[in-house]
Amino acid sequence: MRRERDEWVEADERHEALIPDEQFERAQAEMQRRSTGQGGNRHRRPQKRPYLLRGIVHCATGHNPLRMQGRSRKGEPTYYTCGYRTSYGDRAAEAVGHGKWQYVREDSLTTLIDSFFATRIFGADRLAHFRRQDESLSGELRDRDGDKCKRIAGQIGAVEQKIERQLAAIEAGVDPVEVGRRIRGLKTERGEAQSVLAQIEDSRRDSTAVDPDDARAILDALPDLGE
Ligand SMILES: [Zn+2]
Repeated sequence: MRRERDEWVEADERHEALIPDEQFERAQAEMQRRSTGQGGNRHRRPQKRPYLLRGIVHCATGHNPLRMQGRSRKGEPTYYTCGYRTSYGDRAAEAVGHGKWQYVREDSLTTLIDSFFATRIFGADRLAHFRRQDESLSGELRDRDGDKCKRIAGQIGAVEQKIERQLAAIEAGVDPVEVGRRIRGLKTERGEAQSVLAQIEDSRRDSTAVDPDDARAILDALPDLGE
């Protein structure tokens, strides 16, 4: 929490000033001026040239994905750079294995993007590519849901065995009121597991956002716009 100036406590042993006092005072005055809205250039000037891949290039070198910023200088190729080190410092960057300058050239990305469109969208083998990808993805999804269903079915089986044992306890003469309470609890547990199972089965039925046949037809109908 930022405290009032008269509440500040000054340490006896101070480190050397990081910046000259005079510069500090000037920065404070400038911040004050901007925060009161007097003349501060609060609106950024519009970018001269919007970068082609603005907002979609990310760096994830040892950190969560962060947007990379476009940079260009006259006569040099455009590139995108990560601000992690600038924001968190050299040590943090070094700790996650981040380079001092983490950047990627735009032309190396546009080459990849162009080749994706040329082969996967407009290319002669686009349908074969699509079919392979669709098969491997839906296979993965099936396996994942299948494992989950098996696990829940196992849980339901275990709860049903417990219910059986409670019924046996009544026959053996245990207080039926107490046993009845336990059985109700177990039945609630079973009901919850069953509804989770039903949800998974429902979502499996209508999980494909785009019907693969429709997607294939759309791809097939595209003219070759590669040029
Ligand atoms: Zn980075």
